[in-house]
Amino acid sequence: MIDAVQDLQGPNENLFDRISGRIADPAKVFLETAGGERMTYGDMLAATGRIANTLVLAGVEPGDRVAVQVEKSPENLLLYLATLRVGGVYLPLNTAYTLTELEYFIGDAEPKLVVCDPAKRDGLAPIAQKHGVASIETLDKDGRGSLMDKAAKAPADCADVPRAASDLAAILYTSGTTGRSKGAMLTHRNLASNALTLIETWRFTANDVLLHALPIYHTHGLFVASNVMMLAGGTMIFLPRFDADQVVTLLPRATSLMGVPTFYTRLVQHPGMTRESCAHMRLFTSGSAPLLAETHREFQEKTGHAILERYGMTETNMNTSNPYDGDRIAGTVGFPLGGVDVRIADPDSGKALLQGEIGIIEVRGPNVFPGYWRLPEKTKAEFRPDGFFITGDVGKVDERGYIHIVGRAKDLIITGGFNVYPIEVEGEIDALPGVVESAVVGCPHPDFGEGVTAVVVRTKGATLTEKQVIDALQVRLAKFKLPKRVIFADDLPRNAMGKVQKNVLRDQHGKIYS
Ligand code: AMP
Repeated sequence: MIDAVQDLQGPNENLFDRISGRIADPAKVFLETAGGERMTYGDMLAATGRIANTLVLAGVEPGDRVAVQVEKSPENLLLYLATLRVGGVYLPLNTAYTLTELEYFIGDAEPKLVVCDPAKRDGLAPIAQKHGVASIETLDKDGRGSLMDKAAKAPADCADVPRAASDLAAILYTSGTTGRSKGAMLTHRNLASNALTLIETWRFTANDVLLHALPIYHTHGLFVASNVMMLAGGTMIFLPRFDADQVVTLLPRATSLMGVPTFYTRLVQHPGMTRESCAHMRLFTSGSAPLLAETHREFQEKTGHAILERYGMTETNMNTSNPYDGDRIAGTVGFPLGGVDVRIADPDSGKALLQGEIGIIEVRGPNVFPGYWRLPEKTKAEFRPDGFFITGDVGKVDERGYIHIVGRAKDLIITGGFNVYPIEVEGEIDALPGVVESAVVGCPHPDFGEGVTAVVVRTKGATLTEKQVIDALQVRLAKFKLPKRVIFADDLPRNAMGKVQKNVLRDQHGKIYS
């Protein structure tokens, strides 16, 4: 399979052709809804053909961007595939973005077509007009709207547009917690190579049924989950969103689940998650944010399954994974995927560091994007001359070769001239009785530059105090790493992918030492 990845050089490397070329049986189920409605691979071919013809009528030509802000639905996935068929560049947008934010994305990406929820159409129309968008179509959460009305009247046959491996398939805007969002350009080769590698690493086959509960405006749900399943020829149970009760009810129909850590913190508390209910499940994966070691342990105790944690990002697709066979170690993200080079480097020189040393994680491979949309300088600054992308994640490799993520470089706290990696302090706090989880951030401090500040979520009924936390850590951590303040909160602010929004915490507690 890795050979197939290296081979992505043919005259037509359109990801869609790769997917359709692997359809062994058009009657095989492509997608099911929770309610039991089924769509076969043959249905998918016909439906994406109709939508593709509709896109062409809307003026979409090869290389044009198709910006999409709609609720997750099977039709939303079909729209992604249809965009690939016409050689377009799919641009999904988080459903939470406001009109002001949408104006930035539309102005930056200059899409030919915008597809939005019917309720947003009137608000978007003047923005679209201002930025030269040729058409707006609508699609609602039930798969209805002008796009599907037109598609129903269009022919199912469509001539797919050939694409080179280096042609763009999608642009995904990064979540942009610092500064403006940047459009990560992803090629057909980036997407195909990564999905094929994951299929091999995680042993996906046409016999798999994936519970798909992730959003599809993000790399995890759109590329990792959907591309893997479609290239494996398996079946997806396509859920509009994650709901623990629903997932538990549907487990008997599935073989696998891909999730973010919050799925697992919720599932582990669900009485329906047992060895029996998970007996026929083959694989649970986690990524997009760190999985708590405690959740990993509890999940294994309850279900008998060791969650397989992997690491990736919008710009690079997936980089590393815990092994399918062998130890899946909590708190690590495993080994580099086949064909992907990973190194831990000195942040200034880019020189590779020794095993055990902490540095910036850098990656190179067919999975890594060619750059940010219309930002050549920014792109240049984030690549080393030898082609490695500087991820901005800080990590190390342990003696067994497992990669550990220590945090984001921008979350590193510098206090009195000393570096403090938040994850080390968080790990110690999380291990205290009465603590559910914690987040450690640096807040401006008049003497130290930044003060180590811990935000802690206590278990129900726990009476743990600030002093008790600091006293308990005193024997475990050097003095400069100790939190100067401990703040208790009901929960931590997270985005839809389960990532703790440290920028929000820094804003909330920015004046704590002033
Ligand atoms: P995104 O581009 O939204 O997918 O975010 C990518 C970032 O999420 C990475 O750069 C990491 O900081 C973080 N991330 C992804 N997977 C993991 C993981 N398994 N453990 C810790 N952080 C992760």
